[in-house]
Amino acid sequence: MYTSHSLVDAGSPEILAIAETSLHRNGKCGVTGYLYFDNEVFLQVLEGLLPDIEMIYASILRDSRHEGVRTLLRQPIETRAFGEWAMGYYDGTIDGGLIGQVFGPDLPTRATEKMAPQLLRFLRDLSLGRADVYRLPPEAVG
Ligand code: FAD
Repeated sequence: MYTSHSLVDAGSPEILAIAETSLHRNGKCGVTGYLYFDNEVFLQVLEGLLPDIEMIYASILRDSRHEGVRTLLRQPIETRAFGEWAMGYYDGTIDGGLIGQVFGPDLPTRATEKMAPQLLRFLRDLSLGRADVYRLPPEAVG
C-alpha cells in the first residue's frame, strides 16, 4: 500500500486511462487491489505474487501522473482482502475529498507506516460500499 500526490484531476481522461490499464494489466497478472483518488491524493493497495507486485509497483513509481510516492505497507498475506477487484476504485471527490475529512489534509506528506492499519481498513470499507461510515453530516463539514 502506498499514497502519493495526484498530478491529474479526478474527472480527467488520465484517471480513466489509469483505471483501464490497471484492470487489464492486474487482471492478466492475477493482481488485485483498490485505489482511492481525488484531485490531490492517491491511496492504493495491491495484492498478489511478489514478482508481479514488484513489476507493477516499479511502473507506478516512475509514473509522471503523480509524485511523492510513499510506501506505507509491504507484508506477506495469507488471504486477499480485495480478491474481488482486479482494481476497484473510489472517487473521493464525490464526498469533497473524503480522505482529507477522515485523516486530515495532505495525507501523502504526513502518512506514516503507523497509520497503515487504519488506511487499509478505510480502503476495505470503501470496497465493501461502506463509505457512509466515514461521511460527516453536512453541518459538520460546513
Ligand atoms: P508505460 O505505459 O510505458 O508508460 C510510461 C509512462 O508514460 C508512465 O509512467 C506515465 O508517466 C506515462 N503515461 C502512460 N500512459 C499515460 C496516459 N494515458 N496519460 C498520461 N501519461 C501516461 N498500472 C497497473 O498495471 N496496475 C495498477 O494497479 C496501477 N495503478 C496505478 C495507480 C496510480 C496512482 C498511477 C498514477 C498509475 C497506476 N498504474 C497502474 C499505471 C502504471 O503506472 C503504468 O502506467 C502502467 O502499469 C503501464 O506500465 P509501463 O511501465 O508499461 O508504462
